[in-house]
Amino acid sequence: MDIKCTDRELFLFKKIATASQELGVASYLIGGFVRDKIIGRPTKDADIVCLGDGIELAHAVANRFNPVPTVAFFKTFGTAQIKLSDLEVEFVGARKESYSRDSRKPEVAPGSLEDDQNRRDFTINALAISLNRENYGTLIDPFNGLGDIEAKIIQTPLAPDQTFSDDPLRMMRAIRFATQLNFTIAEATFTSICNNAQRIKIVSQERITDELNKIMLSPKPSLGWDLLYKSGLLQIIFPQMVDLQGAEYIDGMGHKDNFYHTLQVIDNVAEHSNDLWLRWAALLHDIGKPPTKRFEEGHGWTFHGHEVVGGRMVPKIFSRLKLPMNEKMRFVQKLVELHLRPISLTKENITDSAIRRLLFDAGEDIEALMILCKADITSKNKYKVRRFLQNYELVAARLEQVEESDRIRNWQPPITGEIIMQTFGLTPGKQVGIIKDAIREAILDGVIANNYEAAHAYMVEQAAALNLKPLQ
Ligand code: ATP
Ligand code: MG
Repeated sequence: MDIKCTDRELFLFKKIATASQELGVASYLIGGFVRDKIIGRPTKDADIVCLGDGIELAHAVANRFNPVPTVAFFKTFGTAQIKLSDLEVEFVGARKESYSRDSRKPEVAPGSLEDDQNRRDFTINALAISLNRENYGTLIDPFNGLGDIEAKIIQTPLAPDQTFSDDPLRMMRAIRFATQLNFTIAEATFTSICNNAQRIKIVSQERITDELNKIMLSPKPSLGWDLLYKSGLLQIIFPQMVDLQGAEYIDGMGHKDNFYHTLQVIDNVAEHSNDLWLRWAALLHDIGKPPTKRFEEGHGWTFHGHEVVGGRMVPKIFSRLKLPMNEKMRFVQKLVELHLRPISLTKENITDSAIRRLLFDAGEDIEALMILCKADITSKNKYKVRRFLQNYELVAARLEQVEESDRIRNWQPPITGEIIMQTFGLTPGKQVGIIKDAIREAILDGVIANNYEAAHAYMVEQAAALNLKPLQ
């Protein structure tokens, strides 16, 4: 097989070949590495399957390097890994699998190469290349995976109902590969995903979310989300997202389909940023629309407060999807909450204080917020899109100007709660908060200058209104 390998890879494969020969076991490169080499995608890990003991082969290969790399092995699974700087190689004995109804963990027994290829999820993932002397470099492709790579098709090697029922995670993998590679899922394979969708319930949330993140990091994430929706999987794994779907009409007045709008927004964001969490923010920016949807007589559809409701939904969704409940979640929440703010600044006569306030609220995430807001423009009317984008350019220029003079992004008011407590002999409590907020608001509104002296004087004034006097 004529594929482009680096010298390091070829050097390694030769070593595996000689080690296998010495042990008297046949070995093959298999799976994702072969697929990606044929497609011409970057590869990071290589899987080796051998007709024998994978751990023994791994040790034999490692011993041919100087210094000898560490072999990490797992006796129960019969697998072993060697890390060679940028390349991770995994060794396993060829095996045959049989599944029970209630688990995606099979019974395994040693098998032939053919058995091992039969248990693979897709034809494009079942390709093997021989590392054996008699046919070194030959592609072993029992299911025409090569043809499917050329035709850009994802399909299972065996009857799809069997493949998906055995391990329902493969349904997520099918959609993930279709999205990453921009391939089509063969009709019979997709129909089977639709029929087996309920089986996804036996898969752990972590595995499902892993695939969702891979879909999210693809060049066009909408492909995957649309397939999840059309297959019925989305209804099971993420129903709030399905609630966005559909356009309702009353008295001839409709609203846009927020599901497809959202998908467009993710693709727009994906063109400008590889940040997984900014992409999640795009996915969730309108998630508060279904629960806030109202029809107002004579006016039409409204979604008042959807950014606030949406922001509150973010932790629940992150928790359910087992996404991290940390600063990444707070970043997504913040963007959902703020996603309408820049639009409100595109009107005329916007004061510096409104600009300062957004800079303060968005802080370090102002650029991410602006990417999201621009991506949110999905009108089909080119002139409208152009006008909106021009308005955003104006807002961006104002943001830059105000930041330049006031340095608000990383700003903290010059008077801390600590200073307030010391000055008036207070313990932590409501009064401290009231004074602190008043100082911050006065500075953001431009009522007082942004320096210690002005803030101190203002603090004394505000405290007096609460009947507080400085100590001494
Ligand atoms: P990537 O590494 O980009 O996620 P990959 O195809 O290499 O893609 P891995 O999870 O690394 O995926 O798995 C390596 C190979 O193991 C696959 O190419 C496939 O042949 C097989 N495989 C992995 N998971 C499954 C599964 N759930 N069912 C059947 N075969 C699988
Ligand atoms: Mg892999």
